[in-house]
Amino acid sequence: MYTTGNRIAWLQGPDASCAKTGPVPPRPWHLVLLGPPGVGKGTQAEKIIAEFGACHLSTGDVFRYAARDTSGQAPSPAMAVALAAMKRGELVSDATVVELVRERIQCLACQYGFLLDGFPRTLEQAHALDAILGAAGRKLDAAINYFAPESLIIERLSGRRVCRQCRTGYHVQNKPPRVSGRCDACDGDLIQRDDDKPEAIRTRLHAYATTCDPVLEFYRRQGLLRKIDASGDPGAVFVHTREVIQKLSPAVPH
Ligand SMILES: [Zn+2]
Repeated sequence: MYTTGNRIAWLQGPDASCAKTGPVPPRPWHLVLLGPPGVGKGTQAEKIIAEFGACHLSTGDVFRYAARDTSGQAPSPAMAVALAAMKRGELVSDATVVELVRERIQCLACQYGFLLDGFPRTLEQAHALDAILGAAGRKLDAAINYFAPESLIIERLSGRRVCRQCRTGYHVQNKPPRVSGRCDACDGDLIQRDDDKPEAIRTRLHAYATTCDPVLEFYRRQGLLRKIDASGDPGAVFVHTREVIQKLSPAVPH
């Protein structure tokens, strides 16, 4: 089992260390994880880290962390730009997301390897990643794409509930509250966020496909794309993931 290191440090800019410790994997893996919301990518990421090492670099972490923003630490230059956009309720631009990743170039080049999750999300970001890795003297080993039928993803995501008062999350099948419709922690009402209603999920999935399909094609042409059916349970999906990673090119020098 490998450790995850400090997943937040890389958000704090070029000088922060991810402070990853513990054994160095025999070979550093350089992987990109792709797949729509609700496909179970986060769970697979954790399993990959535990088994293969690598720093988990998740742009989702960036945005969740930035939204809380309670550290009191000065954000990195790109983070400051991203925060300002989010405060205005705007999307963070491709260019800024690329800068956030570029600031972590040391992490991308480190001896543990990396697992990028949530990036690249557009063709422009994929091209930028190639340039960043080239500058760091690194190459991607694979882009792993998880897929599942839309109906299954809608079923999974539309089962989410959140407590109106304390915001604790539940799931009607996977993490049901003790009493239906009531929060275990505070007895508040459990509600379904508008984002988790089937129509909204369908819209998000279509938006995701529109921007991500060119990214899949980009990696397919380079022979880096690996597709994994994520409709089974997480353990079974990881068995397949492990096989895919083990079949990638054998050990290379650090
Ligand atoms: Zn509650």
